[in-house]
Amino acid sequence: MSRKKILAGNWKMNLTIEEARNWIRRYQSVQKKGYLMDVILFPSFTALYPLSKEAFKAGITLGAQNIFEEENGAYTGEVSGKMLVDAGAKWVLVGHSERRTIFGETDDRINLKVRQALFSELRVILCVGETMEQRKAAEHQEVVSQQVINGLKEVHQSDLPHVVIAYEPVWAIGTGQTATPEDAQEMHAWIRSCLKDEKGETVADKMRIIYGGSVNSENATQLFACPDIDGGLVGGASLKPDSFLSILRSI
Ligand code: PEP
Repeated sequence: MSRKKILAGNWKMNLTIEEARNWIRRYQSVQKKGYLMDVILFPSFTALYPLSKEAFKAGITLGAQNIFEEENGAYTGEVSGKMLVDAGAKWVLVGHSERRTIFGETDDRINLKVRQALFSELRVILCVGETMEQRKAAEHQEVVSQQVINGLKEVHQSDLPHVVIAYEPVWAIGTGQTATPEDAQEMHAWIRSCLKDEKGETVADKMRIIYGGSVNSENATQLFACPDIDGGLVGGASLKPDSFLSILRSI
């Protein structure tokens, strides 16, 4: 089954509106033609709306790095799905390891966020991944399958193609230590087999599973050539348009 590849950049808490605009201008000046893949950027909330027109012209889709699980109300400091759509977001990242560890987001909360995002007509990148301790204890498959199953609980079958799973081993995020293509492929195939058992073969074949964790232009070609790796989620190397573009070219 051929699945459209994705290259996504997670800027985290970096880049002002002006810096983000310059990023898009540089990207557009180099990247004239469209690629047959989805290119998605996750800027800060504050840069979403100011970037929306220029990103569209550059063939880039925007996403938000977080969402709140309720539709609206007295939740000071939170941002709803409707607000994200209003600001130009088409996607949202849910369950990133920084949200799980620093902000204590549990699988149950992540599941509510996934469902709220889909209800708001946003597409979702659901991040999952094990720690090094869990891998060393041979618990990585169990941990990741629970994150996938719990994250997708009660998600309607027809919404599943709007969800992408990002396998991001926690030990590979921001460390310069990437999973080998063999280990990454093994985990992606494992995730696809869990999706098949839980949700059925047709949808499991359609769903895209992308890899994240210290991706750069040197390791991208081999990683993205694996049969179950449908693209990448890039953190650090997405902050400079040239390094993001060199990953894009190597896919
Ligand atoms: C991330 O934070 O999602 C990520 C993959 O970061 P990095 O590429 O810097 O490891």
